Amino acid sequence: MTPTRYEQEGTVFDIQRYSVHDGPGIRTIVFLKGCPLSCRWCSNPESQRPQPILMYQKSACTQCNRCIEVCKQGAISFANPTFIDRSRCISCGACAEVCLPNALVMKGRRMTVWQVVQELQKDATTYRRSNGGITLSGGEPLVQSDFARELLKACKEKGWHTAMETTGHASKEVVEDVMPFVDQALVDLKSIDPAVHKENTGVDNRQILENAIRISTITKAVVRVPLVPGVNANRPAVEAIGRFAKLMHNVDTVHLLPYHTYGENKYDLLGRPYPMGNTPTLPKTTVDELKGVVEGLGLRCIIGG
Ligand code: SF4
Ligand code: SF4
Repeated sequence: MTPTRYEQEGTVFDIQRYSVHDGPGIRTIVFLKGCPLSCRWCSNPESQRPQPILMYQKSACTQCNRCIEVCKQGAISFANPTFIDRSRCISCGACAEVCLPNALVMKGRRMTVWQVVQELQKDATTYRRSNGGITLSGGEPLVQSDFARELLKACKEKGWHTAMETTGHASKEVVEDVMPFVDQALVDLKSIDPAVHKENTGVDNRQILENAIRISTITKAVVRVPLVPGVNANRPAVEAIGRFAKLMHNVDTVHLLPYHTYGENKYDLLGRPYPMGNTPTLPKTTVDELKGVVEGLGLRCIIGG
């Protein structure tokens, strides 16, 4: 039986309150699991898999063995190179429940639309006073399109401004189904060059570019560009994205998001190597120069989001 809209379930891995990024005013950000891309610089690698995922912080572990005793899959051992044998782990969460110092934490839990709205309601006054609202992020929120649509509808019924950060990687049908309930789309564009895009995100950019145009015909859109050294933090790449933004409907603003290493620690907690290695952050002079490229095209440019 199809769930009624408030009973619709999705997998959420975080809810962050009091954000001043990712849309106007003060916002609560709901992070949904699952992403079809695997960008090398991703700062939320725990979001990529649709299912909940286990994170292990070695420095917090007291070696009490409780997790090893409860894991029916035999997935945990101090003899394993990264403690958890992820080929055996079924994400049941039993180990995290018995880990008293929270060295093991499950990222991602099933929530209904109703449960998320109850969380969002806590800051309803703040949304009203700051002209803020709620933002869906991820991962890619369109991976869980039924949940995203019902959640957005519920928020709009409350009178809250809705925003969504999206890669644009989804079918035309999904975009047309969900975007009418988004007041502002934050459309991430990484590269116009198909080969560069594929090499650094794992997917082709054709559908993404088509959807970027499509989204801008449905709702107000802002283009966001993660500026990544060795990928797109150069004049030709940024100019190409800026020119594409001008082809979109009613887009007058581009956000440049300079590369940072905030997510590096998470790769360690997931037992994965950091794909960006020792890539240095961008000098301010480079960021300013690229801002000038965007502005030179007649677009407003904001550093950060
Ligand atoms: S239950 Fe937690 S503290 Fe104990 S061994 Fe496992 S990870 Fe370490
Ligand atoms: S989540 Fe479940 S299967 Fe995975 S390591 Fe923990 S107890 Fe074992």
